[in-house]
Amino acid sequence: MAKVVSVRLKVYGRVQGVGFRPFVYRLATALNLKGYVLNSSGSVEILLQGERENIEEFQKRLIKESPPLSVIDRVEREEIDAPTYSDFTITPSRKDEGFVFISPDIAVCEDCLREMRNPEDRRYRYPFINCTNCGPRYTIIEDMPYDRDKTTMKKFKMCRLCKAEYEDPLSRRFHAQPNSCFDCGPSLWIEGIKTQDIFKKIAELIKDGKILAIKGLGGFHIACDATNNEAVKTLRERKKRPHKPFALMMKDIEMVKKYCYVTPKEEKVLTSPQSPIVLLRIKDIQDISPEVAPHNKYLGVMLPYTPYHYLMFDFLDVPLVMTSANFSDSPVIKDNSDAKERLSDIVDFYVLHDRDIRHRVDDSVVFVEGGDLQFIRRARGYAPDPVKLPIKVKPSLALGPELKNTFTLAKGDIAIPSPHIGDLKNQETLDVFEDTIMEYIRLFRIEPDVLISDMHPAYMTTELAKKFKNYVEIKKVQHHKAHIYSLLLDIGYTDSVIGFAFDGTGYGEDGKIWGGEVFVGSIKGLKRALHFEYFPIAGGDSAVMNPRRIALSYLHTYFPDYTDRIKHKFSDFEFKLVKKMVEEGRVFHTSSLGRIFDLVSSLIDIRDSITYEAQAAIELEMAATESQHTKFYDFDIKDGIIEIKSIVEGILKDKESKEKSYIARKFHNTIVEIIKDVAEDLYRETGLKTVGFSGGVFQNRLLLSLAKRELEKMGFNVLIHRHVPTNDGGISLGQLVGAME
Ligand code: ZN
Ligand code: ZN
Ligand code: FE
Repeated sequence: MAKVVSVRLKVYGRVQGVGFRPFVYRLATALNLKGYVLNSSGSVEILLQGERENIEEFQKRLIKESPPLSVIDRVEREEIDAPTYSDFTITPSRKDEGFVFISPDIAVCEDCLREMRNPEDRRYRYPFINCTNCGPRYTIIEDMPYDRDKTTMKKFKMCRLCKAEYEDPLSRRFHAQPNSCFDCGPSLWIEGIKTQDIFKKIAELIKDGKILAIKGLGGFHIACDATNNEAVKTLRERKKRPHKPFALMMKDIEMVKKYCYVTPKEEKVLTSPQSPIVLLRIKDIQDISPEVAPHNKYLGVMLPYTPYHYLMFDFLDVPLVMTSANFSDSPVIKDNSDAKERLSDIVDFYVLHDRDIRHRVDDSVVFVEGGDLQFIRRARGYAPDPVKLPIKVKPSLALGPELKNTFTLAKGDIAIPSPHIGDLKNQETLDVFEDTIMEYIRLFRIEPDVLISDMHPAYMTTELAKKFKNYVEIKKVQHHKAHIYSLLLDIGYTDSVIGFAFDGTGYGEDGKIWGGEVFVGSIKGLKRALHFEYFPIAGGDSAVMNPRRIALSYLHTYFPDYTDRIKHKFSDFEFKLVKKMVEEGRVFHTSSLGRIFDLVSSLIDIRDSITYEAQAAIELEMAATESQHTKFYDFDIKDGIIEIKSIVEGILKDKESKEKSYIARKFHNTIVEIIKDVAEDLYRETGLKTVGFSGGVFQNRLLLSLAKRELEKMGFNVLIHRHVPTNDGGISLGQLVGAME
């Protein structure tokens, strides 16, 4: 008889809550191995006892055949002396040191949908059907290791049938923590309405033009019929959100293709287990209300991702507006009581359920450009997945930026970016920010030794860092350097690059406001090589909200003869005030390219004041896509300064005779030419043939695709983001260089 050996494997990665132990059980039993498998808080531990050949086979197949949602980071192996086991078992979880990855929430799977559609099945039309391959995860987890009594499902006691599935290693629901059914699980109801058929009733209310709050996986949505112009208008009025596009949920991929162009890659992302909102080019808006996405050429579309979204669409043939239930970038509402209290002025009905949301998480927003997935907002379906770093960092917490905040907790070569948190100037968001940080530290068991914050003296995060200065080391990383570092860490690039940080605004090392920066260097350090010229802007936030003020500041400084020509954009008072502020030097100086987009948008009468972030730049981009030519404005680059005066001069001249879209396109082409020139110059200086793009301006798809294509034609290797947003949502990842070992 062959010799029996004992081997202990520790498997690290996303291996809990993804059907890993039943998979191990089945594999071990098939190979006639004895021993056990258990979840510990740091890993999945497997003891194998049997013939060496079978153990080798096990290890090979462990990697090759692991469950679809699992991600194996590494496997540690040790031969040990062990008592003799007579069978293979799944033994209770053990709590120990170390952290384990937590699975994000996963859209309902095909197998569950099939059961839900089967009249013979005991879960026929059950709104919370799930299995080890799908359903809620991060949003319901209270502690690790991931077990039912450490989730918000603990209050639902499994019935006999559910319990049997849960305990059967051969069932798809073996240790599926949210496992439940009509008899024992959560339920869904319309507040105040008794009905036999809740989904039919929801559809009736929607068709009737009503506005509904619907509790989802990570928070509430506000929903209405996207083809009902009155309903969408009413929603805009009630939510005090005049222009910012609403996301849509569509019944199926056929419906999406009716309204939008969908590439194979976009279809893959739409139908993926992460099920994000994908920005798709509008084919023909047809019956969708123009109020859904005014002045936009893209629709943000997602497919149903909970079982009850599907059940709703069984009675609906129209796209739904599905917008996050929050107020001006404050955290999304997640609790029933909160929803009823705070949404009463906005919605007519509430669709509620009694499975509590422990962690709020918004819908993710992505787009696909040139085959690359780009994040606008990284949240549901992706967070809290880790990003593997090309460097090692001390246990650290990067606090991120002020707007579009995310933070990142990290240790060794693992970084865990938080989901999108929001605007920290809002007290409620700040509270959620601090709570979520505490949750992360507890769940992932990383006690930070280093705190990294932005350099801005007035940021809330800077204040927060100060509070901890007696306990931990505090580091600061400049905002735009953090953008380039973020890109490099995101894609694991350790060599030197030419880095373009084209962005909104951030506090610079010279006390001025940066935002159009070109760096040379690597994660070991960046040198500012060039930047857009500083130009004066009167008023801080008020100028960002009113691009006409940026235009007046600029013209009054450099083209005073022209100022009267834009007088009609202002009240007398505002006109005089801005001019006076410029004359008295009550201005801030910035090199922000984002603000130059605002300037141009106002100069050519596209947008003079905005109601959501980057609106002026977005509408400028939309106008530019309507024109196709390759002309560009003259520009000067002298002593490391990219001057814009000649560009503005050209625009003012074109304005006499040319269409807005022509000028908008010419301006985009000019920025591409600048990037080409700068890259070529810096290549001659440094020999570097790799270029990186980061910063909010690269959310501009026209600019991103043109610049990438042109540089690649010139032989450059172009790096763009992959796992985190190019906007400020990616900053916290980049800040981690401050904690490099
Ligand atoms: Zn499933
Ligand atoms: Zn049950
Ligand atoms: Fe930024």
